Amino acid sequence: LVSSSSNACFKSINEMFGLGNNEPVIIAGPCAVETPEYLETIAKHLRDKNIRFIRAGAYKPRSSPYDFQGLKENGLKILQDVSKRYGLFSITEVVDTRDVNLVTQYVDILQIGARNMQNFELLKEVGKTNHPVLLKRGISATIQELMLAAEYIALKGNNKIILCERGIRTYETKTRNTLDISSIPIIKKETHLPIVADISHSLGRKDIVNNIAKAVLAAGADGIMVEVHPIPELALSDSKQQLNLSEFDDMLDFIKR
Ligand code: PEP
Ligand code: MN
Repeated sequence: LVSSSSNACFKSINEMFGLGNNEPVIIAGPCAVETPEYLETIAKHLRDKNIRFIRAGAYKPRSSPYDFQGLKENGLKILQDVSKRYGLFSITEVVDTRDVNLVTQYVDILQIGARNMQNFELLKEVGKTNHPVLLKRGISATIQELMLAAEYIALKGNNKIILCERGIRTYETKTRNTLDISSIPIIKKETHLPIVADISHSLGRKDIVNNIAKAVLAAGADGIMVEVHPIPELALSDSKQQLNLSEFDDMLDFIKR
């Protein structure tokens, strides 16, 4: 379904959300919902910049069980409240089949994280919803495996799928993961699905985001996902890679140039 030239799936994110333009989509927001005030600050900033999508995790898949795990349903409530008031489409990760129904009640887009790309039961469950799904490439997944994971969702009848390249694990340590830039044109060639690149989780650092943002768009990405926090130094997760608001503005200016 995802490779056929039929209209089995939406081919553009803007079309999926009824946005009448062809500009690259920016999905921005903090790693996690922390306080209503932080999220409000970001949402206001995004709206002022004409950005339509806010991300924030309520269920955080952390490598260590001792790290901040997210605010769960309380986080969903904050995200819903803020995104509605600022007219933004919200996106959050769902990590468990048992939570899918609950999460759909609060947010606009379901995210399947890298660690769950081959959680086939979870893929089938989000495939049964009418919510758009952002499916992230697994940390050790091939492009073919990513496309097959998307197929699981499409087969259940969900035609709103957005793929996300977020880097893969290699021997390189200067970045957290290695952004596989060639996956973008390959996905564009072999499927009809939109694809965005998560430049924050792939890099794990923020000093090079401007060039990488430009690079993924040049490679044909439909958009960018990027982490933004009002005070990244105080963030409860991924503090090194989150942009502050002025760094975010710089990135937007840079990609427009
Ligand atoms: C995220 O986007 O919040 C996240 C945890 O990313 P990934 O699944 O790509 O590691
Ligand atoms: Mn993060």
